[in-house]
Amino acid sequence: MVFGVIIGTGTGGGIAIKQQVITGVNAIAGEWGHNPMPWKDDTEGPVQCYCGKQDCIETFLSGPGMLKRFIARGG
Ligand SMILES: [Zn+2]
Repeated sequence: MVFGVIIGTGTGGGIAIKQQVITGVNAIAGEWGHNPMPWKDDTEGPVQCYCGKQDCIETFLSGPGMLKRFIARGG
């Protein structure tokens, strides 16, 4: 089994088992970027994602997300 993790302008992934890509019911198996960020610091309030949800992992773990959180803030 392989779980591919992609972090770039977004956050995503995919699953392959026995050299076959697993697509899942909605053809998004392995996509984890739009699940809620676990253990988020609630003191900063909700973070809006372009998908319409709040606190998606992608808003933190992506190039733009890391730029906004760590570089633009000065560390
Ligand atoms: Zn999202």
